[in-house]
Amino acid sequence: MPRTESAKERANARLRRRHSERSASGKCTRCGKAPPEPGLKMCRDCGEKRRAADRARRARARAEGKPYAGRDPDLCRRADRARDRRQRRAWRDAGLCSNCGRNTPEDGRSVCEPCREARRIIDRRRYAARRAARVCVRCSEPAVDGSSRCARHATLEAERVSPEHKRAVDRKRYARRRAQRKCVDCSVPVAGTARCPDCARRSNTRVPAYHGAPAGPPFYSVIELDTRDDHGTYETEAEVAACLC
Ligand SMILES: [Zn+2]
Ligand SMILES: [Zn+2]
Ligand SMILES: [Zn+2]
Ligand SMILES: [Zn+2]
Repeated sequence: MPRTESAKERANARLRRRHSERSASGKCTRCGKAPPEPGLKMCRDCGEKRRAADRARRARARAEGKPYAGRDPDLCRRADRARDRRQRRAWRDAGLCSNCGRNTPEDGRSVCEPCREARRIIDRRRYAARRAARVCVRCSEPAVDGSSRCARHATLEAERVSPEHKRAVDRKRYARRRAQRKCVDCSVPVAGTARCPDCARRSNTRVPAYHGAPAGPPFYSVIELDTRDDHGTYETEAEVAACLC
């Protein structure tokens, strides 16, 4: 449902329109009468009035200790962030560091090496401060006793560093997705198979590695212990028994 324009939005649109009309027709954007000063949008009179008003507002804000020269701090902060994002995108698009806009980052990164190093120093400092305060180094919630992390981040970290834990999580996910008839790799619905056609192709061309769970039935290799004779590989215990008879 389209949002109805508020009276304020309509008034703002009207002002913007008037502003651009006056600007286009070579008139002061404030009074709409006198021509603007060279390179400016307002006539001399209006410019002086505007600057005096700005000075007064800034002085008042300073006296009252208000940020953003007395303008709406919420609006100002939002505008600041938007300006920041635009600037960073422009730098990145120009192939420059998206943080400082001065250097060209190395091998496809978006941030230059000095900025990365500065970031690392800040991160290290924050880590040390959080450790000293015994709070989680990731989110600064209270840390679990003897750990550098809160319960949630301790679990995440355990998964990240422990291959066994990761395999257990993988196995559970594999079983759950199979039961729900979803592709075990990307979880799109599948009919009977473990993987969707795309993931099956990827899985087949992947270098041999751990796949989360065995892809087919288990195999039994029959090897005689004393002679080390290999009697072959079988899919069922019944076949193994038949071989050994
Ligand atoms: Zn004017
Ligand atoms: Zn930089
Ligand atoms: Zn945490
Ligand atoms: Zn898939």
